[in-house]
Amino acid sequence: MQLATLFRRVALVAVAFSVGSAVNAQNIIYAGPDGAPIEGERCATPAISPQQQAAVDAFLENFLAENPGTQNRDGFYLIPIAYHIVRYDNGTTGEVSDADIEEQTDVLTAAFAFMDIVFETASIDRTDNTTWAQAQPGSSAELEMKAALAIDPASTLNFYTTVPSGGLLGWAYFPDSCESCTYHGVVCLYSTLPNGTAVPYNLGDTGTHEVGHFVGLYHTFQNGCTPPGDSVDDTNYEAIPFFGCGARETCGSPDPIENFMDYTDDACMFEFTPGQQERAYVQMAAFRPTMWIKVPVELVSFNATLNGNAATFEWVTSSETNNSGFEVQMLPDGRSEYQLLGFVEGHGTTTEVQHYTYSVVGLNSGTHMFRLKQIDFDGGLEYSQEIEVTVGVPGTHVLEAAYPNPFNPEATFRFGVNTQQNVRAELVDVLGRVVNTLFEGNVAADEMQTVRIDGSGLPSGTYMIRIVGETFVDAQSVTLLK
Ligand SMILES: [Zn+2]
Repeated sequence: MQLATLFRRVALVAVAFSVGSAVNAQNIIYAGPDGAPIEGERCATPAISPQQQAAVDAFLENFLAENPGTQNRDGFYLIPIAYHIVRYDNGTTGEVSDADIEEQTDVLTAAFAFMDIVFETASIDRTDNTTWAQAQPGSSAELEMKAALAIDPASTLNFYTTVPSGGLLGWAYFPDSCESCTYHGVVCLYSTLPNGTAVPYNLGDTGTHEVGHFVGLYHTFQNGCTPPGDSVDDTNYEAIPFFGCGARETCGSPDPIENFMDYTDDACMFEFTPGQQERAYVQMAAFRPTMWIKVPVELVSFNATLNGNAATFEWVTSSETNNSGFEVQMLPDGRSEYQLLGFVEGHGTTTEVQHYTYSVVGLNSGTHMFRLKQIDFDGGLEYSQEIEVTVGVPGTHVLEAAYPNPFNPEATFRFGVNTQQNVRAELVDVLGRVVNTLFEGNVAADEMQTVRIDGSGLPSGTYMIRIVGETFVDAQSVTLLK
């Protein structure tokens, strides 16, 4: 804590000297791995000129006019991160543990929760190359490193941790350029990650700040007190970067020193604004559309367990957005339309894994199909894969009731056997005469047969369906009512 305070004071002194020179005089002092102070720069993201900013703003305005609603929050976005740990040739300088990388992902997710953006660690690789580790923004070493290490920049945030020369804490590139260029991504001094040594910049918010640039946000002090500032309406103008912690007023209103896009110490920056969220959304939709995909309701499994004539369905989602719930539907053997069995409530929007179960008892013999119909709160829906459940024939055989009964002139009934055999089914009148042979054939075990009764040539009356197999005889009565 004392160390942090010390470095904050030093940083304030540093900025005091820099006032009056260029706005991007960004000298800071932070702790090196051995505790000795290092002088460096807070952020080396290439500056954007007023002309470039005006061009981007005009483009975004047109894009928003053509894609209304792009700025609105209406679901979660998931950004996978490929971490590239680039160390010195000695294999130790610049090392970051997997646990600290995971914490960096958590810091980003916490910071961007305000924007409903979730991050996940997709991959981690380590490379020993002192030249690459020391690369500065725009250098050939940087381009060479990224060309070698970048993983699918259109769909993945490539996050490099290095040991940049000049004491740089990090940099990024704005999205308004080719979507799949390998130079995209963020570079951070390895010791700025959570649990790193770069006090007071070691809580992972160098990553937050640089990812802020990655999604299209400028510094809060962009253009100083002059419109359009950072092109966001609800961040106050700010003449120069703020270092340390505290409060200040440089353009007639409180400086947005708690904003992630200022130069404040990690411990004192914790805010994005609604205006920044909207600007980030439109930029991502316009410039990084491949990456900008809403988290769907992602069903990772759907299984059934059968116990006699009872079935239990279990399914798991890895994430959900706006999920009202699931209809469990069944297509009974011999039928042509799915029926609703029941409804299971969803979890709305979540990136946590969710488990669901649903049970049904008293299933008839036969092969039934089941599926889930996932329904969004706004009415959107999606069907799962179908799964097949075969309920075997208990005992020697099954003879299901004819339907409809009474009938005119047609009805159907189903039967099944538990061992393969020849079966004959007949329609018999009250005098015991066979008036129709309804079925004759060899029937496989557990395969339900649907049999049609045609009474169009028969008088009204009560009839018997008689079914004779090799292992059983059974019968049921039906009434033809004309
Ligand atoms: Zn920056």
